[in-house]
Amino acid sequence: MKWKTYEKISCYFDFVNFVDLSGWGEPLLHKRIYDMIKVAREKKCFVGFTTNGTLLNQSVSERLITFNLDLIAISMDGATADTYESIRKGAKFETLVNNIKSLNLSKQRLKSKKPKVVLVFLMMKRNISELPSLVDLASKLNVDQILVKNVAVTLKTKDDEQRLFSCNEESVAREAVENVEKAKGKARQNGITLNVASLKLRDRPVCLADPLKSVYFTWDGYVSPCDSLAHIDVPRIFCGKREKSVPLRHFGNVQEESLFEIWEKEDYQKFRQLFYKRQRLYNSFIYRALEALVHFQDDRKSFNRNLVAPSVCRSCHYLYL
Ligand code: SF4
Repeated sequence: MKWKTYEKISCYFDFVNFVDLSGWGEPLLHKRIYDMIKVAREKKCFVGFTTNGTLLNQSVSERLITFNLDLIAISMDGATADTYESIRKGAKFETLVNNIKSLNLSKQRLKSKKPKVVLVFLMMKRNISELPSLVDLASKLNVDQILVKNVAVTLKTKDDEQRLFSCNEESVAREAVENVEKAKGKARQNGITLNVASLKLRDRPVCLADPLKSVYFTWDGYVSPCDSLAHIDVPRIFCGKREKSVPLRHFGNVQEESLFEIWEKEDYQKFRQLFYKRQRLYNSFIYRALEALVHFQDDRKSFNRNLVAPSVCRSCHYLYL
């Protein structure tokens, strides 16, 4: 992203709480990442990003701390060198572990509690057995939190084959359930926060990207509801089946219009309306279900029939996980 584009976007930081500097690239490769953090922090935003951690050497860590980064999420898809390096081609497990240790030492030296360190583990058939060991490792590395995510964006058959969550009536793989439970036990013992994504698909009123409260900017300033709709319009694989290509949804560009104008555009409003409607339905369903548990099954059927999402979202796993 060019600095000029970031400056345009930063005009709106007075209206937001959280600035996530992640995209489809590696944030630490951006030449002005520290300036980006500085600008967002000056506007009192909570600032974070997700990194593969390979560039996180001592001098980078110290600068991130000095620039007051709030949160760093580090992708670690295995607890052993073999598994991690077979998934993250070209990356070295030992380097990553040493980089996290060095970040901790820098925090101690600079007497800073920030950034909060989160490990992100993408659970797959090939690495799920290492989730409990990852909790042990995270504890040794003084990690604050572990975020266990699903392989939800599946564009290739080989990625879908690695997914662990179950669709429709499929039962969840026992190996996944057992390892998640074991990891939860270890997390409790070690006092570490572990958040695990659902292993079963279920309708969410609003998807994880939360397009009602957040926007995604592409590197060249286009505004989208989420990264999935911002970058590529290739067919997704949804629950094992290849779907039609999903068109990109760009509602405007901050280099040409104000974000407020873009947010208020009719097509963007229509896109959000369906999520508002889902949310209202969901809230009324919960209320009615609580009020009359006895009618729960009938209500559930009519609820599912009425729960409509934007067409581009219907084959997105984030709406269900
Ligand atoms: S459901 Fe998926 S495609 Fe739709 S806004 Fe959410 S993350 Fe994006």
